[in-house]
Amino acid sequence: MEFDLIARIRARAGQRDDVVLGIGDDAAILRVPEGRHLVVATDALNAGVHFPAATAAADIGWKALAVNLSDLASMAAQPAWCMLSLSLPQADVDWIDGFLDGFLALAAQHGIALVGGDTTRGPLSVCVTAHGLVEPGRALRRDGARVGDDVWVTGSLGDAAAALALLASPESADGHRTEAGDAAAGASAWLRLRLDRPQPRLAVGAALAGVAHACIDVSDGLLADLGHVCAASGAGAEVRVDALPASDALCARFGHEARRELQAAGGDDYELCFTAPQEMRDAVAGIGLEAAVAVTRIGRIVAGDGVRACDGDGRTWRPGRAGYAHFAG
Ligand code: ADP
Ligand code: MG
Repeated sequence: MEFDLIARIRARAGQRDDVVLGIGDDAAILRVPEGRHLVVATDALNAGVHFPAATAAADIGWKALAVNLSDLASMAAQPAWCMLSLSLPQADVDWIDGFLDGFLALAAQHGIALVGGDTTRGPLSVCVTAHGLVEPGRALRRDGARVGDDVWVTGSLGDAAAALALLASPESADGHRTEAGDAAAGASAWLRLRLDRPQPRLAVGAALAGVAHACIDVSDGLLADLGHVCAASGAGAEVRVDALPASDALCARFGHEARRELQAAGGDDYELCFTAPQEMRDAVAGIGLEAAVAVTRIGRIVAGDGVRACDGDGRTWRPGRAGYAHFAG
């Protein structure tokens, strides 16, 4: 039965000239161009842990690839090929077709070919490996931040965590923020889209090579992920919590303090957090304009270690919710 599924996948997988041998043999053969380094990332998604069990197959397919492309984006790599390991409770043709709708739509947007994988029976789990290319020495790493750098973030923060909070308890939005039914429902639907269909910031990541010093994608929450950059770079960071970019939908559904928590500590946004020297401010703004992605300056790299978030009066601000406290560094 797995063979039927593999045949369905094979019939729809995209093509690239540099795929010497794709799905169908024991392994794929890929032509890595002269003068490029291969950049490889892998991430698994498990039902109930990384996505709500009731998530539509197409959304799972999209997200499974998106989180891997986000890793390539944060390295400034150009995506090329991917592998897909599926563990499925049963050979469900409709589910596979839906999954491929989401997965291959995103793959086509970024010209990435599906070149192999594995299909087994078991609890629903999806593991993708993405391969990208970068010029030697141009990759953006976590360890390049320097004291005096600005800290920037793309897009908006906290939307995915807000969607999860609304799924867990629709009343979690502040009472006084609950607007007339339609507007609230529209904002919630938009937040859900941010959770289910993250947009990997590949164009921004690629353009930041040679401009940014360090970069990471925000998967665990801004303070946690910026903390990884600080630890790898041997420096600290100061972030203005009220400078964190918020979407209109987040503002429509959550009040000030709840919003700060979601933005600073909520995961799953897949935005890029990067550091760049101050003389690159115009260059960074130009990259955002070119890619039509908001870029916001949220703080700076300082001597020391850990991430300090501060409020408008310069007082240290910490996420209050239990379990997030350790992210404050
Ligand atoms: P093997 O036993 O040699 O691992 P498989 O039957 O697992 O062979 O896979 C046959 C071919 O189908 C291989 O090229 C493999 O990469 C590909 N394949 C299997 N599952 C998937 C999948 N979920 N997505 C893409 N390719 C797959
Ligand atoms: Mg196999």
